[in-house]
Amino acid sequence: MAPATPAAPGKTSRTAPIKAVTTVAMLEEIVRTVGGDRVEVQALMGPGVDPHLYRATARDTERLDQAELIVAVGLHLEGKLDDILARQTQRGKTVVMAGETIPESMRLKVEAGKDDPHIWHDPIRWQEVVDPIREALTKLDPAHADEFTSRAEDYIRAMNELDGEAELALKGIPEERRVLITAHDAFRYFGDRYKIEVRGIQGINTASEASARDIMELADFIVARKIRAIFVESSVPPATIEALQKAVRAQGHQVEVGPALYSDAMGTPGTPEGNYIGMFRHNIKAISEALK
Ligand SMILES: [Zn+2]
Repeated sequence: MAPATPAAPGKTSRTAPIKAVTTVAMLEEIVRTVGGDRVEVQALMGPGVDPHLYRATARDTERLDQAELIVAVGLHLEGKLDDILARQTQRGKTVVMAGETIPESMRLKVEAGKDDPHIWHDPIRWQEVVDPIREALTKLDPAHADEFTSRAEDYIRAMNELDGEAELALKGIPEERRVLITAHDAFRYFGDRYKIEVRGIQGINTASEASARDIMELADFIVARKIRAIFVESSVPPATIEALQKAVRAQGHQVEVGPALYSDAMGTPGTPEGNYIGMFRHNIKAISEALK
């Protein structure tokens, strides 16, 4: 890891914790884990909130103004906040667009010039965002650089273990059943990592409407492949998945709606799914049990 930037004279030992704001809770967890008691961090978006559609409230704007550090995924995940985040950057604030710090070669393309932002569904790619966050914290509080480094390393180690766990749990799904169908295309990184074909009714952005034709085409696919389960997501209304189930049943094929997956938001803080590892484990279990 890069050495810490030397502190300006008189700034070596700040006493107040760094005020940080993140968009999604997956990033809040990284800032809190790496920063420890040297940060005060809050996510704008809680459980069940869809980042594609989220608009800043007056309170959010205030929080962003007061923050010293802002961390977002970027790559247009938080589409309605793009302008606000750009303005904060222009004003000279430390804004980390975490997804955009990941090497181009690791990003999945949706089309030319457009990358898929749902990187947290692959723990190996997602760990790439830890270091830029550690670096930003170190710049703001150089005296605690070693602490940040050691906690970042622990977090990355846990992500590697999680990846191994996922690999093991998912490998038992037979080849012909390795298809994950969800309301929107959030799981392409997951599919890429664990060799599961993914299909979403909506594209990578929930702001686009699903057409009746999209649903019919996917229903035909499910019937043809004899797929047994489709999944709702915790941050997307279940209407499209229910319409898909109905369309499949109309063709005489039974398809179950599996447990809700955590796609773009984690669970309630304090519950097992309220942290990254817990939400990922929930998804692995739900997917492997429903498809096996
Ligand atoms: Zn999404």
